Amino acid sequence: MSLNIGFVGLGNMGGPMAANLVRAGLRVTGYDLAEDARERAAGHGVAVAGSAAEAVAAAEVVVTMLPAGRHVLESYRELTAAAPRGALFVDCSTIAVGDARIAAGLARTAGHLAADAPVSGGVPGAEAASLTFMVGGSDAEFAEAEPVLAAMGRTVVHCGPSGAGQAAKLCNNMILGVSMIAVSEAFLLGESLGLSHQALFDVAATASGQCWALTANCPVPGPVPASPANREYAAGFAAALMAKDLGLAADAATASALPAEFGRRAAELYASFAQGEAAGLDFSAIITTLGKGAE
Ligand code: NAD
Repeated sequence: MSLNIGFVGLGNMGGPMAANLVRAGLRVTGYDLAEDARERAAGHGVAVAGSAAEAVAAAEVVVTMLPAGRHVLESYRELTAAAPRGALFVDCSTIAVGDARIAAGLARTAGHLAADAPVSGGVPGAEAASLTFMVGGSDAEFAEAEPVLAAMGRTVVHCGPSGAGQAAKLCNNMILGVSMIAVSEAFLLGESLGLSHQALFDVAATASGQCWALTANCPVPGPVPASPANREYAAGFAAALMAKDLGLAADAATASALPAEFGRRAAELYASFAQGEAAGLDFSAIITTLGKGAE
């Protein structure tokens, strides 16, 4: 595979993802508004351009990894005019399903191909090229995107037409947010019933309470030594990002006229938790607030 990639957004996720494309032998020209992100990417062999438009000027594939929908739409308005006609636009940011469809429309109107391809796996997955990509687009768009995404991840799933990748991401993270709260409440209830964390873990991890929030990201220190709870909840997956994703899921539930009662409650709890200093903590730190209020 020999392709010119234009990569815009070289932050915590985009930086290591772009580095993996370089490792796979692709020519990557990148841009980020932040100087430190540009410098780190340059250290990994990314050719740093003077602007986002310049980064995509010769690109066959344009990858964006930006904070939120408004950044993606603003960038697409500029980049779809700057890239050579027929380029494939792949947005890996987590954004609303509706915004993903608008972004794809902007790209297609300008004569390009487009796919939404949000990720799961966090910064460790981005660094290890073991991300899961959830892709929305036509069969032809998926076929073009797949080899590029495979250089940055382990699993690439075609979820359906434009927006389907974002839909899968929001649904997955709604499961994760709700299950983390359920696991946390179970540990707090167990404590009050005199049950040790280890005993509850040993049972639930091999019984019907088993889930990723328990067995990989356990919110209490001890049972899973690698979980963020053992290092004062250093992220991991930041609470602010969980709050963002649950907010997008709640908005999607409203647009679909669905109650999604637990998803909405999880969105409220994380929105309140992620204000201020807790924003950067791992999302499992929510357990530290769930015991309050029952005294
Ligand atoms: P980040 O803030 O570290 O990186 C975003 C980068 O985009 C920043 O470096 C910023 O300077 C740059 N940027 C913003 N606007 C720009 C513009 N117009 N042109 C060029 N650069 C611009 O965020 P991140 O953690 O890398 O997350 C990126 C996306 O991935 C988000 O949508 C997030 O929800 C999603 N995501 C993150 C994780 C995670 O664990 N960090 C996991 C899964 C998905």
